[in-house]
Amino acid sequence: DQALVWFRRDLRSFDQAALHEALTLSRRVHCVFIFDRAILDPLQRHGATADRRVAFIHQSLAELDAELRSHGGGMIVRHAHAESEIPRLAAELGVAAVFVNEDYEPAAVARDAAVSAALKADGRRMISCKDQVIFEKSEVLTKTGKPYSVFTPYKNAWLKTLMGAADDPFAANPLLNRYLSTPDYGRLAPAPVPANGLPTLADLGFLPADLSRLDIGPGMSGGQELIDAFMDCIADYETARNYPARRGTSHLSVHLRFGTVSVRSLARRALMERHNGAGGAGAAVWLSELIWRDFYFSILHHFPHVAQQAFKPDYDRISWASGPEADEMFQAWCDGKTGYPLVDAAMRQLNETGFMHNRLRMVTSCFLIKDLGIDYRRGERYFADRLNDYDLSANNGGWQWAASSGCDAQPWFRIFNPVTQSEKFDADGVFIRSWLPQLGRLSGRDIHAPWKLAPETLRQAGVELGTDYPQPLVRHEEAREQTLQRYAVVKKAI
Ligand code: FAD
Repeated sequence: DQALVWFRRDLRSFDQAALHEALTLSRRVHCVFIFDRAILDPLQRHGATADRRVAFIHQSLAELDAELRSHGGGMIVRHAHAESEIPRLAAELGVAAVFVNEDYEPAAVARDAAVSAALKADGRRMISCKDQVIFEKSEVLTKTGKPYSVFTPYKNAWLKTLMGAADDPFAANPLLNRYLSTPDYGRLAPAPVPANGLPTLADLGFLPADLSRLDIGPGMSGGQELIDAFMDCIADYETARNYPARRGTSHLSVHLRFGTVSVRSLARRALMERHNGAGGAGAAVWLSELIWRDFYFSILHHFPHVAQQAFKPDYDRISWASGPEADEMFQAWCDGKTGYPLVDAAMRQLNETGFMHNRLRMVTSCFLIKDLGIDYRRGERYFADRLNDYDLSANNGGWQWAASSGCDAQPWFRIFNPVTQSEKFDADGVFIRSWLPQLGRLSGRDIHAPWKLAPETLRQAGVELGTDYPQPLVRHEEAREQTLQRYAVVKKAI
């Protein structure tokens, strides 16, 4: 029988569940990627735009297509509504089955259900594989069969389930190694060669986006380069990961988002490093981060209301700042103009590169919610628009953590002090200076809270507050008091 593999968040040809299964079970395998109008058209409502994620996908796809062609196959690429195009193409090619890797976001689940129903009505099948996570849905549950809502017991159960699958947890673990053998690429069907190759970004209505500031290469090759570089310094991860001026984390999130790396291979590498290398402690912490990723996917699956509402319903009773003043403050936060240098430098990094360091995601989200009193959902949406690695489950988990409304979140009365965070995690101001050159002449000691400085110190550094750099939007101590009052509705409920 013939099959069609529909690529989505899995832009790679090795260790790829749906492709591997299709090549094992079918005689002839076609491959397709759809630039889905249902996703892209809303991004273009104000005309042609540049989007780093579309550019990243576009480049990754070109590499994947070349790789498939080197095996005699190739990618059919369409710019259409996936929901109608996939059943249409399946009929055109006469395939018996469409293979996909499961996507867990509510909109994707609804889309896949519609496609599956249309295929079924036409006598074809949709076959879903697990590829994006190590454990999905109900694979890791409590002893009483309930989903976990606290991370540490989830993590322990996750590790137990993984290790329980094999005597040798790394080399021969079937859960991690299932798709490692080379599939029979000879079964790939050649793709029609369009006259001008793949559609260009301009054909899709997008302007070129500058990926160079990111320092992250797209595609399978870009992912592999990052893995190799990171494995050399994984030993330092436990401490280095906290400092935004250092390259202490892997930067693999965008590759995990688009599946240009395999999460199974990352877990395998982390387990091996944990077991063998001198960097065991760093590798163990890094593995925990991959487990957080699975955890948030599982939360979204079991508690889909989190996409719109607080995980803990009491927190929906909080009344957030609103009106023109709040709108202005929100805009200042988006633009990196709050007057708090670490927050502003972080927001500029996000706006200019699409990346933000994890520590800074924590600092900026807490600042928006607990210093400005603004609904976490507004910040969540802004991050969703900007982050290259945007992922509904992790982003929502992160924002609900900061708002204290999430599962296993920080307690509501814990409020980051943005100046202390700055002094601790960017002590010399290296990160701040790289994004706020107007503060470049302030010393490492002075740069964290310019409004506290003597006029003479500011003058010598060439900084005029209110002109070169904003006065602080709020005073942290006052904002803190207001936040404690705002959250009193939750306190009463406890
Ligand atoms: P590393 O430190 O190298 O971690 C390795 C991988 O583990 C990451 O690539 C990521 O896939 C996963 N990971 C790490 N931390 C987390 C976490 N806290 N939750 C879930 N997975 C994690 N991550 C996203 O992938 N997409 C998002 O949209 C996103 N939004 C966030 C919003 C907020 C407010 C916060 C606090 C965190 C958010 N995170 C998100 C989690 C985390 O900040 C990023 O995954 C991380 O900064 C990516 O950098 P890295 O690849 O160098 O991470």
